[in-house]
Amino acid sequence: MEYAEAYGARVPKVGLGTWQLTGESCYETVSTALELGYRHVDTAQMYGNEAEVGRAITDADVDREEVFLTTKVSPRNARYDDVVESTRASLDRLDTSYVDLLLLHWPNPLVSVSKTMRAMDRLVELGEVYNVGVSNFPQVFLDRARAAAETPIATNQVQFHPYKPQRRMLRYCQSEGMFLTAYSPLARGTVLDDEDVRQLAEAYDKTPAQVVLRWAIQHRDVVVIPKSSDEEHLRENLELFDFKLTREEIDTLTKPSLLKSGKAMLDGMVGEFR
Ligand code: NAP
Repeated sequence: MEYAEAYGARVPKVGLGTWQLTGESCYETVSTALELGYRHVDTAQMYGNEAEVGRAITDADVDREEVFLTTKVSPRNARYDDVVESTRASLDRLDTSYVDLLLLHWPNPLVSVSKTMRAMDRLVELGEVYNVGVSNFPQVFLDRARAAAETPIATNQVQFHPYKPQRRMLRYCQSEGMFLTAYSPLARGTVLDDEDVRQLAEAYDKTPAQVVLRWAIQHRDVVVIPKSSDEEHLRENLELFDFKLTREEIDTLTKPSLLKSGKAMLDGMVGEFR
Protein backbone atom coordinates (compact mmCIF):
# COMPACT_ATOMS: atom_id res chain seq x y z
CA MET A 1 0.00 0.00 0.00
CA GLU A 2 1.10 3.55 -0.64
CA TYR A 3 0.12 6.51 1.55
CA ALA A 4 -0.73 10.17 1.18
CA GLU A 5 0.32 12.60 3.87
CA ALA A 6 -0.94 15.98 5.00
CA TYR A 7 -0.21 17.86 8.20
CA GLY A 8 0.60 14.69 10.14
CA ALA A 9 -2.22 12.59 8.67
CA ARG A 10 -1.00 9.45 6.91
CA VAL A 11 -3.72 7.80 4.90
CA PRO A 12 -3.72 4.65 2.74
CA LYS A 13 -4.20 5.66 -0.88
CA VAL A 14 -6.98 3.12 -1.33
CA GLY A 15 -9.91 3.10 1.06
CA LEU A 16 -13.36 1.55 1.09
CA GLY A 17 -16.39 3.73 0.30
CA THR A 18 -19.60 2.70 2.06
CA TRP A 19 -22.34 4.92 0.63
CA GLN A 20 -25.49 2.84 0.06
CA LEU A 21 -24.13 -0.10 2.05
CA THR A 22 -26.44 -0.72 4.98
CA GLY A 23 -27.35 -3.40 7.49
CA GLU A 24 -25.76 -6.83 7.36
CA SER A 25 -24.44 -6.34 3.84
CA CYS A 26 -22.48 -3.33 5.09
CA TYR A 27 -21.12 -5.33 8.04
CA GLU A 28 -20.14 -8.22 5.74
CA THR A 29 -18.53 -5.94 3.16
CA VAL A 30 -16.44 -3.99 5.69
CA SER A 31 -15.41 -7.26 7.40
CA THR A 32 -14.34 -8.77 4.08
CA ALA A 33 -12.50 -5.61 3.10
CA LEU A 34 -10.54 -5.60 6.37
CA GLU A 35 -9.64 -9.26 5.85
CA LEU A 36 -8.42 -8.45 2.35
CA GLY A 37 -6.14 -5.72 3.71
CA TYR A 38 -8.16 -2.49 3.53
CA ARG A 39 -7.05 -0.13 6.29
CA HIS A 40 -9.05 2.95 5.34
CA VAL A 41 -12.84 3.15 5.58
CA ASP A 42 -15.10 6.07 4.64
CA THR A 43 -18.54 6.52 6.16
CA ALA A 44 -20.86 9.42 7.05
CA GLN A 45 -23.69 10.31 9.38
CA MET A 46 -25.89 10.52 6.29
CA TYR A 47 -25.17 6.93 5.22
CA GLY A 48 -26.99 5.42 8.19
CA ASN A 49 -24.35 2.69 8.49
CA GLU A 50 -21.90 3.89 11.15
CA ALA A 51 -23.04 1.18 13.59
CA GLU A 52 -22.37 -1.58 11.05
CA VAL A 53 -19.02 -0.07 10.03
CA GLY A 54 -18.03 0.21 13.71
CA ARG A 55 -19.11 -3.33 14.52
CA ALA A 56 -17.11 -4.70 11.57
CA ILE A 57 -13.98 -2.85 12.73
CA THR A 58 -14.46 -3.96 16.35
CA ASP A 59 -14.98 -7.60 15.33
CA ALA A 60 -12.08 -7.67 12.85
CA ASP A 61 -8.74 -9.22 13.60
CA VAL A 62 -7.17 -5.79 13.12
CA ASP A 63 -6.27 -3.24 15.79
CA ARG A 64 -8.40 -0.09 15.72
CA GLU A 65 -5.20 2.00 15.43
CA GLU A 66 -4.37 0.31 12.12
CA VAL A 67 -7.56 1.54 10.46
CA PHE A 68 -7.88 5.07 9.10
CA LEU A 69 -11.55 5.82 9.78
CA THR A 70 -13.37 8.80 8.29
CA THR A 71 -16.85 10.01 9.04
CA LYS A 72 -18.71 13.11 7.92
CA VAL A 73 -20.90 15.56 9.75
CA SER A 74 -24.20 16.14 7.95
CA PRO A 75 -24.68 19.74 6.81
CA ARG A 76 -27.76 19.89 9.04
CA ASN A 77 -25.39 19.38 12.01
CA ALA A 78 -23.01 22.17 10.98
CA ARG A 79 -23.77 24.45 13.97
CA TYR A 80 -21.17 24.43 16.77
CA ASP A 81 -23.10 22.41 19.37
CA ASP A 82 -24.52 20.08 16.74
CA VAL A 83 -21.05 19.31 15.34
CA VAL A 84 -19.87 18.32 18.82
CA GLU A 85 -22.97 16.38 19.81
CA SER A 86 -23.52 14.62 16.49
CA THR A 87 -19.84 13.64 16.29
CA ARG A 88 -20.07 12.12 19.76
CA ALA A 89 -23.15 10.20 18.61
CA SER A 90 -21.13 9.03 15.58
CA LEU A 91 -18.32 7.86 17.88
CA ASP A 92 -20.86 5.90 19.92
CA ARG A 93 -22.30 4.26 16.83
CA LEU A 94 -18.80 3.57 15.49
CA ASP A 95 -17.85 2.08 18.87
CA THR A 96 -14.62 4.06 19.02
CA SER A 97 -13.20 6.91 21.06
CA TYR A 98 -11.90 8.82 18.01
CA VAL A 99 -12.08 9.12 14.26
CA ASP A 100 -8.97 9.65 12.18
CA LEU A 101 -10.71 12.18 10.00
CA LEU A 102 -13.88 14.24 10.41
CA LEU A 103 -15.28 16.03 7.36
CA LEU A 104 -18.13 18.48 6.90
CA HIS A 105 -20.11 16.57 4.23
CA TRP A 106 -21.38 19.57 2.23
CA PRO A 107 -21.15 23.32 2.79
CA ASN A 108 -24.18 24.65 4.66
CA PRO A 109 -24.88 28.18 3.43
CA LEU A 110 -27.04 28.88 6.51
CA VAL A 111 -24.23 28.31 9.01
CA SER A 112 -20.98 30.22 9.28
CA VAL A 113 -18.23 27.76 8.40
CA SER A 114 -16.02 29.33 11.04
CA LYS A 115 -18.41 28.02 13.74
CA THR A 116 -18.27 24.55 12.23
CA MET A 117 -14.48 24.63 12.06
CA ARG A 118 -14.17 25.90 15.63
CA ALA A 119 -16.25 22.97 16.82
CA MET A 120 -13.97 20.64 14.89
CA ASP A 121 -10.92 22.31 16.48
CA ARG A 122 -12.46 21.64 19.89
CA LEU A 123 -12.97 17.95 19.06
CA VAL A 124 -9.32 17.76 17.98
CA GLU A 125 -8.27 19.39 21.26
CA LEU A 126 -10.25 16.76 23.15
CA GLY A 127 -8.64 13.91 21.18
CA GLU A 128 -11.96 12.75 19.73
CA VAL A 129 -10.94 13.68 16.19
CA TYR A 130 -7.39 13.41 14.82
CA ASN A 131 -7.70 15.29 11.51
CA VAL A 132 -10.30 17.52 9.93
CA GLY A 133 -11.47 18.25 6.42
CA VAL A 134 -14.36 19.15 4.18
CA SER A 135 -16.24 17.64 1.29
CA ASN A 136 -17.86 19.11 -1.81
CA PHE A 137 -16.27 22.48 -1.08
CA PRO A 138 -15.59 24.87 -3.96
CA GLN A 139 -12.34 26.77 -3.56
CA VAL A 140 -13.90 29.96 -2.22
CA PHE A 141 -15.55 28.06 0.66
CA LEU A 142 -12.39 26.04 1.22
CA ASP A 143 -10.39 29.25 1.63
CA ARG A 144 -12.89 30.42 4.24
CA ALA A 145 -12.80 27.14 6.12
CA ARG A 146 -9.01 27.09 6.13
CA ALA A 147 -8.84 30.64 7.40
CA ALA A 148 -11.26 29.81 10.22
CA ALA A 149 -9.79 26.51 11.41
CA GLU A 150 -6.86 26.27 13.73
CA THR A 151 -6.36 22.64 12.76
CA PRO A 152 -5.01 22.45 9.22
CA ILE A 153 -7.57 21.09 6.78
CA ALA A 154 -6.13 17.83 5.49
CA THR A 155 -8.43 17.13 2.56
CA ASN A 156 -11.35 18.10 0.39
CA GLN A 157 -13.36 15.02 -0.60
CA VAL A 158 -14.81 15.56 -4.07
CA GLN A 159 -16.02 13.69 -7.12
CA PHE A 160 -12.89 12.71 -9.07
CA HIS A 161 -12.60 10.38 -12.07
CA PRO A 162 -11.63 10.66 -15.76
CA TYR A 163 -14.82 12.59 -16.56
CA LYS A 164 -14.27 14.94 -13.58
CA PRO A 165 -10.50 15.47 -13.23
CA GLN A 166 -10.81 18.49 -10.90
CA ARG A 167 -7.64 20.03 -12.28
CA ARG A 168 -7.94 23.32 -10.42
CA MET A 169 -8.98 21.83 -7.09
CA LEU A 170 -6.20 19.25 -7.32
CA ARG A 171 -3.58 21.91 -8.01
CA TYR A 172 -4.90 23.87 -5.04
CA CYS A 173 -4.69 20.85 -2.71
CA GLN A 174 -1.20 20.00 -3.93
CA SER A 175 0.08 23.51 -3.49
CA GLU A 176 -1.44 23.83 0.00
CA GLY A 177 -0.10 20.53 1.32
CA MET A 178 -3.50 18.79 1.37
CA PHE A 179 -4.55 15.52 -0.24
CA LEU A 180 -7.62 15.24 -2.44
CA THR A 181 -9.97 12.38 -1.60
CA ALA A 182 -11.54 11.04 -4.78
CA TYR A 183 -15.14 9.98 -4.27
CA SER A 184 -17.02 8.02 -6.92
CA PRO A 185 -13.60 7.27 -8.47
CA LEU A 186 -15.25 4.80 -10.87
CA ALA A 187 -17.88 7.38 -11.82
CA ARG A 188 -20.28 4.94 -10.16
CA GLY A 189 -19.29 2.30 -12.70
CA THR A 190 -20.17 4.44 -15.73
CA VAL A 191 -16.55 4.89 -16.88
CA LEU A 192 -15.82 1.17 -17.03
CA ASP A 193 -17.19 0.76 -20.56
CA ASP A 194 -15.06 3.56 -21.98
CA GLU A 195 -13.22 2.28 -25.04
CA ASP A 196 -9.82 3.73 -24.01
CA VAL A 197 -10.18 2.27 -20.54
CA ARG A 198 -10.97 -1.14 -22.03
CA GLN A 199 -8.01 -1.04 -24.41
CA LEU A 200 -5.57 -0.12 -21.66
CA ALA A 201 -7.01 -2.81 -19.39
CA GLU A 202 -6.31 -5.36 -22.08
CA ALA A 203 -2.81 -4.02 -22.73
CA TYR A 204 -1.85 -4.19 -19.03
CA ASP A 205 -3.80 -7.39 -18.32
CA LYS A 206 -5.76 -5.48 -15.68
CA THR A 207 -9.47 -4.82 -15.26
CA PRO A 208 -11.13 -1.55 -16.38
CA ALA A 209 -11.66 -0.62 -12.70
CA GLN A 210 -7.96 -1.08 -11.97
CA VAL A 211 -7.01 1.16 -14.90
CA VAL A 212 -9.39 3.90 -13.74
CA LEU A 213 -8.24 3.72 -10.11
CA ARG A 214 -4.61 3.67 -11.21
CA TRP A 215 -5.32 6.77 -13.32
CA ALA A 216 -6.57 8.48 -10.16
CA ILE A 217 -3.76 7.54 -7.77
CA GLN A 218 -1.07 8.41 -10.28
CA HIS A 219 -2.06 12.00 -9.63
CA ARG A 220 0.08 13.29 -6.78
CA ASP A 221 -1.76 13.56 -3.42
CA VAL A 222 -4.90 11.72 -4.56
CA VAL A 223 -6.55 9.06 -2.43
CA VAL A 224 -9.41 6.88 -3.76
CA ILE A 225 -12.36 5.36 -1.91
CA PRO A 226 -14.14 3.04 -4.36
CA LYS A 227 -17.23 1.26 -3.06
CA SER A 228 -17.84 -2.38 -3.79
CA SER A 229 -19.79 -5.13 -2.11
CA ASP A 230 -18.31 -7.80 -4.37
CA GLU A 231 -15.33 -9.69 -2.93
CA GLU A 232 -13.54 -10.01 -6.25
CA HIS A 233 -14.00 -6.30 -6.96
CA LEU A 234 -12.79 -5.42 -3.47
CA ARG A 235 -9.66 -7.48 -4.05
CA GLU A 236 -8.88 -6.04 -7.47
CA ASN A 237 -9.47 -2.47 -6.30
CA LEU A 238 -6.54 -2.91 -3.89
CA GLU A 239 -4.18 -4.35 -6.49
CA LEU A 240 -3.07 -1.16 -8.15
CA PHE A 241 0.59 -0.96 -7.31
CA ASP A 242 2.17 -3.38 -9.79
CA PHE A 243 1.69 -1.37 -12.98
CA LYS A 244 2.05 2.22 -14.11
CA LEU A 245 0.32 4.22 -16.84
CA THR A 246 2.41 6.49 -19.02
CA ARG A 247 1.93 10.26 -19.05
CA GLU A 248 0.35 9.93 -22.49
CA GLU A 249 -2.07 7.23 -21.33
CA ILE A 250 -3.12 9.38 -18.39
CA ASP A 251 -3.83 12.24 -20.78
CA THR A 252 -5.84 9.95 -23.08
CA LEU A 253 -8.02 8.84 -20.20
CA THR A 254 -8.63 12.38 -18.96
CA LYS A 255 -11.93 13.38 -20.58
CA PRO A 256 -13.68 16.13 -18.63
CA SER A 257 -17.40 15.91 -19.33
CA LEU A 258 -20.07 17.80 -17.41
CA LEU A 259 -22.68 15.58 -18.97
CA LYS A 260 -21.04 12.29 -18.03
CA SER A 261 -19.98 13.34 -14.53
CA GLY A 262 -23.45 14.79 -13.90
CA LYS A 263 -25.08 11.61 -15.13
CA ALA A 264 -22.90 9.42 -12.92
CA MET A 265 -23.95 11.45 -9.87
CA LEU A 266 -27.62 11.72 -10.80
CA ASP A 267 -27.99 7.97 -11.28
CA GLY A 268 -26.83 7.54 -7.70
CA MET A 269 -29.01 10.30 -6.27
CA VAL A 270 -32.14 9.05 -8.02
CA GLY A 271 -31.57 5.75 -6.20
CA GLU A 272 -31.39 7.69 -2.90
CA PHE A 273 -34.80 9.30 -3.39
CA ARG A 274 -36.66 6.31 -4.80
P1 NAP B 1 -17.85 4.33 -7.16
O1 NAP B 1 -16.97 3.81 -6.11
O2 NAP B 1 -17.31 5.19 -8.23
O3 NAP B 1 -18.61 3.14 -7.90
C1 NAP B 1 -19.29 2.14 -7.23
C2 NAP B 1 -19.86 1.20 -8.29
O4 NAP B 1 -18.79 0.58 -9.00
C3 NAP B 1 -20.70 0.09 -7.68
O5 NAP B 1 -21.78 -0.14 -8.56
C4 NAP B 1 -19.75 -1.11 -7.68
O6 NAP B 1 -20.49 -2.31 -7.84
C5 NAP B 1 -18.91 -0.84 -8.91
N1 NAP B 1 -17.56 -1.40 -8.77
C6 NAP B 1 -16.68 -1.22 -7.75
N2 NAP B 1 -15.53 -1.88 -7.99
C7 NAP B 1 -15.68 -2.47 -9.20
C8 NAP B 1 -14.83 -3.29 -9.97
N3 NAP B 1 -13.62 -3.62 -9.57
N4 NAP B 1 -15.31 -3.75 -11.18
C9 NAP B 1 -16.55 -3.43 -11.60
N5 NAP B 1 -17.40 -2.64 -10.91
C10 NAP B 1 -16.97 -2.17 -9.70
O7 NAP B 1 -19.11 5.11 -6.51
P2 NAP B 1 -19.54 5.69 -5.11
O8 NAP B 1 -20.03 4.63 -4.20
O9 NAP B 1 -20.43 6.84 -5.41
O10 NAP B 1 -18.21 6.35 -4.50
C11 NAP B 1 -17.36 5.69 -3.60
C12 NAP B 1 -17.46 6.25 -2.20
O11 NAP B 1 -17.22 7.65 -2.17
C13 NAP B 1 -18.86 6.14 -1.58
O12 NAP B 1 -19.19 4.82 -1.22
C14 NAP B 1 -18.74 7.10 -0.44
O13 NAP B 1 -18.01 6.51 0.63
C15 NAP B 1 -17.95 8.23 -1.10
N6 NAP B 1 -18.84 9.29 -1.63
C16 NAP B 1 -18.82 10.50 -1.01
C17 NAP B 1 -19.64 11.52 -1.47
C18 NAP B 1 -19.59 12.85 -0.76
O14 NAP B 1 -20.50 13.67 -0.97
N7 NAP B 1 -18.60 13.11 0.03
C19 NAP B 1 -20.49 11.34 -2.56
C20 NAP B 1 -20.47 10.10 -3.20
C21 NAP B 1 -19.63 9.08 -2.73
P3 NAP B 1 -20.20 -3.62 -6.92
O15 NAP B 1 -20.59 -3.25 -5.53
O16 NAP B 1 -21.05 -4.67 -7.55
O17 NAP B 1 -18.74 -3.92 -7.04
